[in-house]
Amino acid sequence: MTIPEREPQNLPDGWEMVIGLEVHAELATHTKMFSPAPNHFGAAPNTNVHPVCLGLPGTLPVVNAKAVELSIRVGLALNCTVQRCVFARKNYFYPDMPKDYQISQYDQPLNADGWLELPSGYRVCVERAHMEEDTGKSTHVGVSGRIHDAGYSLVDYNRAGVPLLEIVSRPDIRGPEEAKAYVAELQSILIAVGASDGKFEEGSLRVDANVSVRPTGSTELRTRCEIKNVNSLRSIGRAIQYEAIRHVDLYTAGEAPIQETRHWDEEGGRTRPGRSKEEAEDYRYFADPDLVPIDPSPEWIDEIRAALPALPRERRQALVDLGGRGEAVTVTVERRLDTLVREAVALGADAERALIHAANNLAVEGADRLDSARFAALVTMETSGQLTSTQAKQVLASMVATGRHPAELAAEAGFEAMDTGELEGLLDGIIAARPDEWQRFVEGEAKLQGMFTGQIMKATGGKADGKVIAQLLAAKKQA
Ligand code: MN
Repeated sequence: MTIPEREPQNLPDGWEMVIGLEVHAELATHTKMFSPAPNHFGAAPNTNVHPVCLGLPGTLPVVNAKAVELSIRVGLALNCTVQRCVFARKNYFYPDMPKDYQISQYDQPLNADGWLELPSGYRVCVERAHMEEDTGKSTHVGVSGRIHDAGYSLVDYNRAGVPLLEIVSRPDIRGPEEAKAYVAELQSILIAVGASDGKFEEGSLRVDANVSVRPTGSTELRTRCEIKNVNSLRSIGRAIQYEAIRHVDLYTAGEAPIQETRHWDEEGGRTRPGRSKEEAEDYRYFADPDLVPIDPSPEWIDEIRAALPALPRERRQALVDLGGRGEAVTVTVERRLDTLVREAVALGADAERALIHAANNLAVEGADRLDSARFAALVTMETSGQLTSTQAKQVLASMVATGRHPAELAAEAGFEAMDTGELEGLLDGIIAARPDEWQRFVEGEAKLQGMFTGQIMKATGGKADGKVIAQLLAAKKQA
């Protein structure tokens, strides 16, 4: 077995990072976790509400079966044990949570003890993935947008009661790049199994990062700080890097960090202290008397397992089996273009070329709607020499924009195949006009290759294939 390559530490010698991540994912249900209020992003404030999510007296929660099913899908995809679970009340006051408690799970979560394998092959252990409800959203209206100098605050309860799955990793992550890889992989899994849309920009994914440092080689867990609600992959990496350096600086100065929650300030590029961290006992967890335990039957779990789609890890393997390698494979699956590539290859397209396009030239909206037969046709036009790689790239962009056939688009753009005989004739003319330079090229002045290539490109208006020119030049040089 090969040992996966780990990220080198971006810390002063002798220190390493210890990172655990808590990812909150909003589940893609039609209605909320415990009420029939709609669950969708972007509605006018306080329109997706129901007496249950407003915490009105006399209301009772009813569990959304779909939310449980989606949570089990994720648990199985993360290799967790799916088990009997209990909803608990997590008690705290905040104006965006009118019941004064959040329904969550505590000592008996739905999913426990799994793992997630990164594209590098390294496995991060998943401690638990439990169900809970989201809170509402406060907007503090004032100069800074913070509560301290706000003139007043507005509360929107549309998000209150939206089903969440909180996925908690063990402190197995050792650097910002590894943290980003973990979140990216988790995001791909959540989307693949249909549990969440995984959109950071709409708050469907929020990451809390627990960061501490320790002397390299030690197994101790030092005081950690929890950076709350980081909402992009890039910010996750930056926030972790900043926080780990802050800890090393404190230890180096003979001080120590205190356990607290911190907020990431994107503009300032730093974390700032929030409240000092509550301990679990501060929340006075207890089993919610309004809800019964959920004990998923083995038959139901098997049924959900059998219906799981291929996971990103398996989909990467399928591309590797076609001869794909490295970053191109990872990126293609991340963009969900692997089906397109596999179908195109099945229709006769060259796998390497198809993967290069998927990884390098299809980072655009709508690429996943490309028709695989047309994509295969484009790749074949390129590998058969009808299009140069630059032309193929251009045609591909038009295909995504218009959905039209590559042959039509190439003809319209004037990308007709240059006949090799025609090119040879042109080259002979160019050589005849520059006998001295040709002589020097034949005698080994390699840099003149660029000049001759440029002359042919000029003469053909850029339509010639660079590979064919190189072959022609090499052949003429020998002759
Ligand atoms: Mn939570």
